[in-house]
Amino acid sequence: MITIKNYINGTYCEPSNNEWLEAIDPSTGVVYGRLPNSTDKDVEEAYKAANTAFASWSKTSVGQRSEILRKIADLIVSKLDALAAAESMDNGKPLSLAKEVDIPRAALNFRFFSQAITQFYSESHEQVSQKSINFTLRQPIGIVGCISPWNLPLYLFTWKIAPALAAGNCVVAKPSEVTPYTAFLLAEICTKAGLPKGVLNIVHGMGHTTGQAIVEHPNIKAISFTGGTKTGAHIAKTAAPLFKKLSLELGGKNPNIIFADCDYKKMLSTTVKSSFANQGQICLCGSRIFVEASIYEQFKNDFIEKVKQLKVGLPSEKNTDIGALVSKPHLDKVLSYIEQVKQEKATVLYGGERVSVENGKNGYFMQPTIIEVSSNDCVLNQEEIFGPVVTLMPFKGDTEALKLANNVKYGLSATVWTNNLKRSLYFSEQLQTGIVWINTWLQRDLRTPFGGAKSSGVGREGGFEVLRFFTEAKNVCINYE
Ligand code: NDP
Repeated sequence: MITIKNYINGTYCEPSNNEWLEAIDPSTGVVYGRLPNSTDKDVEEAYKAANTAFASWSKTSVGQRSEILRKIADLIVSKLDALAAAESMDNGKPLSLAKEVDIPRAALNFRFFSQAITQFYSESHEQVSQKSINFTLRQPIGIVGCISPWNLPLYLFTWKIAPALAAGNCVVAKPSEVTPYTAFLLAEICTKAGLPKGVLNIVHGMGHTTGQAIVEHPNIKAISFTGGTKTGAHIAKTAAPLFKKLSLELGGKNPNIIFADCDYKKMLSTTVKSSFANQGQICLCGSRIFVEASIYEQFKNDFIEKVKQLKVGLPSEKNTDIGALVSKPHLDKVLSYIEQVKQEKATVLYGGERVSVENGKNGYFMQPTIIEVSSNDCVLNQEEIFGPVVTLMPFKGDTEALKLANNVKYGLSATVWTNNLKRSLYFSEQLQTGIVWINTWLQRDLRTPFGGAKSSGVGREGGFEVLRFFTEAKNVCINYE
């Protein structure tokens, strides 16, 4: 049994109330350890440690901060195998995915922001006639809160923490209670890399208690949150009267629009990934597939054939494509959407069932699922399912495709498959999303703005955008007459 502890003021500690939650391996359903069920008392301790550390961390040179972040990146790389194994066990994702994507990206988050902070700049504006110069002083905010979800645990946790620290803030962070393990291991890495005590504090616990205490804390000045849209709305409501800076990265129901003139082979293999990578539990997965009518039947048959070949299996097995869903409640939620088919003139073309795999018969496994829908207004096309479930629907012409894509409350990302340049630009302009991929999916450059429109969020992460979020801009006007 593993005991996961809070990380406050540079040391591992138990929750003040000595209450614990169970940590479960979703591929077996077996409890592998326990984690703190922290309260506002623990959050207060974390805040105090952060506040004490802030005086010197905020004055540490950019070069020194950069060096520590680089060391953290190096240590993550050196512990790739152990971290990947922990992530895969905790989340249910294939070990190969954790090794190739999650952990390398966590290292890259630290490496990228260790460099980005050395290139970060601010503006100055001269008013020659009035003999004055204005410059923007970008100062760290102070103590910031970072709250992350379970789908890409270390990847998204570090995507917030790295820029917050690079910009000179001290952090009180909470990973999802469903996947706490790699955040726990990260703490030791930070200590080894020489991160001063109190600069990063990790408090484990439930969202509505521990997370809520972070959001409500009067002196935690900014909240960077990634999670569901409902939770995001609740956080916004709590934080608004306290005038906190807020960055919200929320849910998605992303369209994947396929035109007949696309590179068919590339589109087909990428669409399998954009539908089912990480068991479909990526906010950027293309869960609504719209296909031009002239190739609809061909696509449908080829897609089903390809998806049938995906292997659902134990995350630790080499040839597993689809691992376990993250938890029993989440599996039940995803399966409940399959029930919806009966009410909505929809047809399950493939999958739709829970499956049992060898050596993991109590694990939360499910078949990749393809559903044909007859309307974009149905629940299956309007609500975020966040599992291995996609819908298919044909369209005729650009106007209809655009209307279908935009007719949803979410606006995170969209993918368009076409070799028509004019159409690519038109869709890039007209799609109501924060991210548009043309002839690709999930191709990321960390310098770019990342975030959603409509109910998918407020603000942008990534590159200098997030460094602006994690700093307070102060204008200084000097008259030199
Ligand atoms: P949740 O909104 O349930 O939880 C996200 C985090 O917030 C967790 O750490 C959770 O804690 C915490 N939390 C819950 N309630 C509160 C509260 N009242 N105050 C403060 N914190 C709280 O999301 P999930 O973990 O279920 O993640 C899946 C969602 O995340 C999907 O909707 C997905 O689309 C979205 N997502 C968005 C991304 C983006 O970049 N836009 C990227 C990845 C995922 P606990 O787990 O302990 O309840």
